Amino acid sequence: ADWTAAVAAVRQLPADARVLLICHVNPDGDALGSMLGFGLGLRRLGVRRLQATFPGPPEVPEPFRGLPGLDLLVPATEAYPDPELVVCFDAASESRLGELADRLTGAGAAVVLDHHASNTGFGDVNLVDPRAAATSVVAEELLARLDVPLDAGIAECLYVALTTDTGSFRFEATTPAVHQMAARLLATGIRPGDISRRVFDTRPFGAVRLFGEVLGRARLEPAAAGGHGLVWTYATQDDLARHDQRPYVLEALIDSVRCTAEADVSCVVKQTTTGEWAVSLRSKGAVDVSRVAVALGGGGHRFAAGFTGRGTVDEVVDGIRAELPGALLKPTNA
Ligand code: 5GP
Ligand code: MN
Ligand code: MN
Repeated sequence: ADWTAAVAAVRQLPADARVLLICHVNPDGDALGSMLGFGLGLRRLGVRRLQATFPGPPEVPEPFRGLPGLDLLVPATEAYPDPELVVCFDAASESRLGELADRLTGAGAAVVLDHHASNTGFGDVNLVDPRAAATSVVAEELLARLDVPLDAGIAECLYVALTTDTGSFRFEATTPAVHQMAARLLATGIRPGDISRRVFDTRPFGAVRLFGEVLGRARLEPAAAGGHGLVWTYATQDDLARHDQRPYVLEALIDSVRCTAEADVSCVVKQTTTGEWAVSLRSKGAVDVSRVAVALGGGGHRFAAGFTGRGTVDEVVDGIRAELPGALLKPTNA
């Protein structure tokens, strides 16, 4: 990773430079947390003209409305068109930046912080560590190299990012270094119980009922993926409307579906406002779901990936089924 160039890109900024922070569409805890945490760090360094934004609808999902640094956010339509510096968080490619992709070409310099193995290296400076559990790991290191001390605001943002991408320290990427970083963040005095309840364990009653309906129509296909099994379900815009819920509530569904003991691969197909399908894929280890996602026009990590599907739900799931045999990592049970 090119730390020296990234540090120089920040240190060389004129006092009145405009800095724009961006992250991937449909931002999750790592995208928002690493972006806002780094933004608060830049503010401590004295960067005055500083904006953060993300593509798509400007609404911040309810679980993240308590994040420090939210005042940095502006709607994408109002973000600096040609800033001196762009810093991009948690996006593997320009396609994940939607209408903000043009900010990279218009910027004086583009620094990319990411942890996807599939990252295309679309920045002028690319800090991409596929072994990092979250983009916030990269963000913390860059802040340290810029001599920005952690405060509680920065730490809370980076903690949300770290817990999101490690499944609250449950996934394989949870190394000793991850726990050491968590210890540094907690040492600032942030309250992990409050933060986790807000971010992971709070949803409207309507969403609880919606989950009941959507989980009730889940399908188990034990023979799929060479006998390792597939479990899947879907949620439509009509489901959301009937329960008066916003699309972000569906992000937590995959965590209930992937509990299924009889399936290695799990999938949730979520209809978007434009009538396409946002597809989430997870694997317990027998299948490289990023291969499935890439084959269908998306991307992600080995055991957590996604893509945008078109057509009917059945057509989308047919497409996944067809890619599973080619994505097997382990011998089949057959
Ligand atoms: P999730 O299922 O939580 O939305 O996404 C899991 C992972 O899959 C994300 O971390 C991201 O790397 C990847 N991902 C999800 N949707 C897409 C997509 O439409 N395109 C690409 N390239 N990657 C995606
Ligand atoms: Mn992400
Ligand atoms: Mn991430």
